[in-house]
Amino acid sequence: MISCPLCRKPSTFFLQDKKRAFYACKLCGLVAADPKSHVMPNVEKQRYGRSQKATKQRQLTQFILPLLHQINQQQPGSLLGLNFGRVLDEKCIETISHAGHTVYQYDPFFAADHHVLQNRYDFICSYKVFEHFRHPYKEWQLISSLVKPNGWLAISTPLLTDLTHFSKWHYKNNPTHVSFYQQQTFEYLAAHSDFKLLFASQTLILMQKASGSDIKRNLI
Ligand SMILES: [Zn+2]
Repeated sequence: MISCPLCRKPSTFFLQDKKRAFYACKLCGLVAADPKSHVMPNVEKQRYGRSQKATKQRQLTQFILPLLHQINQQQPGSLLGLNFGRVLDEKCIETISHAGHTVYQYDPFFAADHHVLQNRYDFICSYKVFEHFRHPYKEWQLISSLVKPNGWLAISTPLLTDLTHFSKWHYKNNPTHVSFYQQQTFEYLAAHSDFKLLFASQTLILMQKASGSDIKRNLI
């Protein structure tokens, strides 16, 4: 048994494959790789760094641009956003600024510019980063605190839809993927925060922060 790295309740042994043991949490639904099997930082860097390749950049751009358009339909005007992880290339950043928006970038693994964590954002997006979180509780606390009231949080991480398929799921074989989420996990996060879960699919999890949540906090 380990302590669930997201909700911190006991997480029970779930499965052992050729390389790693995995633990599943009944409360929040997170499946986590055994912390003892986490790879060395240089291996993480090499695997995660593949996002710089052109195909990955294309996927990232295809994730962010339509999302920005959708959010802008709900919230007209210039938007200030944070792209958490998977740094966008110049071309995509230019397209975003031509549309009148600003997106800062923060890479928790390689470009940890803490200045961008001083702002509050209309939206935060994170493309295929959550599965790399060794401390998802800490990362969630950080990310959720950076969203303005009424702001949006858009996450892409392949959701686990059926635990019985986990043993054959290729996604778990990448040693840098250490946290796996189910829809239940985002429902748990929404129920324990001031976010509402609007949508959860294989390609997009969309959450919105309640209005006035900062005010509530100030009153406490
Ligand atoms: Zn949990």
